[in-house]
Amino acid sequence: MNQSTTSSSLPSNWQIDHIGIAVNSLDTALVRYETLLATQHYGREKVNSQGVEVAFLDTPTSRIELLAPLDPESIVAKFISKRGEGMHHTAFLVPDIHGELDRLKSLDWELIHPKPISGAHGKWVAFLHPKSAHGVLIELCAYKT
Ligand code: ZN
Repeated sequence: MNQSTTSSSLPSNWQIDHIGIAVNSLDTALVRYETLLATQHYGREKVNSQGVEVAFLDTPTSRIELLAPLDPESIVAKFISKRGEGMHHTAFLVPDIHGELDRLKSLDWELIHPKPISGAHGKWVAFLHPKSAHGVLIELCAYKT
């Protein structure tokens, strides 16, 4: 196998943490996704820093995050009014969020948050602009240590 074009032959140490889905009503969407995945949600929480209320549903290898706007001016409300409900972001759990943000900035990635902010469940989060990732909003998250 020719790996000369890759920076490392090792797998990335990033893990897919969750897929974020923007919804109008958390109550309505939770019923739907609990039916789909045959499980109960957990971790319902208002994240005022991002103007959203979130809840999670686990699968064996990852989780789904449903997020609903807390007010019509929030970024998620604007996303839904422009594109409708649906896939909002892909989140990766990274071991060193500060180091990864510095690395990506040096590679000309457009960072929405150059420094991590407080996210749901006491994690650090930072978003990368979809322009830098072929249309996908990417969230980096890390445990606060
Ligand atoms: Zn998320």
